[in-house]
Amino acid sequence: ERMLEIRKMNCNGMTMKVTYYKEPLFIHRGFMQWLWDVDGSRYLDMFAGVATVSLGHCNPKVMKAAQKQLLHLWHTSAIYVYPQIQEYAEKLVSHLPEPLKVVYLTNSGSEANDLALLMARLHTGNFDAITLRGSYHGGSPLMMGLTSNTAYKYPVPSSLGCCNTMCPDVFRGPWGGSHCRDSPVQTLRECSCTPGQCQANDKYIEQLKEVFATSVPNRIAAFFGEPLQGVGGAVQYPKNFLKEAYKLVREKGGLCIADEVQTGFGRTGSHYWGFQTHNVLPDIVTMAKGIANGFPMGAVVTSKEIARTFAEGLHFNTYGGNPLACSIASSVLDTIKEDKLQENCAVVGTHLLKELAKLRDKYEIVGDVRGKGLHIGMEMVKDKASLAPLPPGDMAEILEDIKDMGVLIGKGGIYGQTFRIQPPMCITKDDANFTLAVFDQALQ
Ligand code: PMP
Repeated sequence: ERMLEIRKMNCNGMTMKVTYYKEPLFIHRGFMQWLWDVDGSRYLDMFAGVATVSLGHCNPKVMKAAQKQLLHLWHTSAIYVYPQIQEYAEKLVSHLPEPLKVVYLTNSGSEANDLALLMARLHTGNFDAITLRGSYHGGSPLMMGLTSNTAYKYPVPSSLGCCNTMCPDVFRGPWGGSHCRDSPVQTLRECSCTPGQCQANDKYIEQLKEVFATSVPNRIAAFFGEPLQGVGGAVQYPKNFLKEAYKLVREKGGLCIADEVQTGFGRTGSHYWGFQTHNVLPDIVTMAKGIANGFPMGAVVTSKEIARTFAEGLHFNTYGGNPLACSIASSVLDTIKEDKLQENCAVVGTHLLKELAKLRDKYEIVGDVRGKGLHIGMEMVKDKASLAPLPPGDMAEILEDIKDMGVLIGKGGIYGQTFRIQPPMCITKDDANFTLAVFDQALQ
């Protein structure tokens, strides 16, 4: 019954396996953390449309704000000003530290990252960008080049024989794979450090220095980093890695960009923004997904100084920051605060991580459990000795079993070997316990 098709794609000598479901789930209704398919079956949504519907499906407070705005004004284009955009920009920057006080609104995370790279290039006068292995920064041609995760790349021919769309200007920095596994060639190797507290900083900083020495001497425009990798499979950097990387990038004249598309708006529990968990201050912050609970929106926030260089040109985005998006996003900010959703991420997330670690100890095929708040990854392996990724067919079967028992989760990682749990931030401890019971059953 489980009709799966596993296709092999060849990309310059690399073989990628992509799993397709032949029978997609037809969802037709949602309320908070619940979804219903066309046959009436109910699912606990532990993935929130890829960490996007952070306040829950059809959240009544967000819906009320949307309905109110729908009756008044949807769109004027960016050539007019309206109170909603001003109110929203002010409210958003009140959540960010100085000097991050200038807001540009887009319709997606890819657009936000495109804009951030453009700003960095204009401001520095440089062209190149560095990103980290395992990263995902978007699906636009520019961001596909910046994205390291090969599963998202198409074998587009280029004069450099490279399969990355637009990649000649982009170089990979260190890091990738699992919590502290080496990955210049993306092989898995265990490290004895506690997950998330890897001390192998020196090695990765050395690798970053090597990238500067060999690939981008003195012409770096931007360094992109997700504070906690999402699509990469909840990959955490060693302590102080981002801090040291930022220092190095700035010494070389580049700007540091925090891609908060998945980590922003309280999802990590302890902080509103992922970069705060690393004690760094980015030059530019990009956001999307949870920003408007599923309504298409993105944002770039930067300093006045950087915005001034950018303002020399003419930037235009037809839909970016339209009144409807701003009203919805504004109610998202209010609701996170009113309903204490960041705090809930910390409490339920800590519980989930603790209990998932027990499953890791119980099952030979659970290689690692990691993450922060409600941004969690569970890396699956053939066995703990080899740490080889669990094959896609097995991953798909477990995923199907979990779905059949009423829970929806995601998948990520360089080999698609990591289950991802990034639910609406309103889930309860009972929801977490139900998920744990389903996982236990499926793993058995
Ligand atoms: N950055 C990160 C970290 C993401 O996870 C994503 C989407 N998965 C993007 C950027 C791109 O966002 P969008 O799909 O809205 O263009």
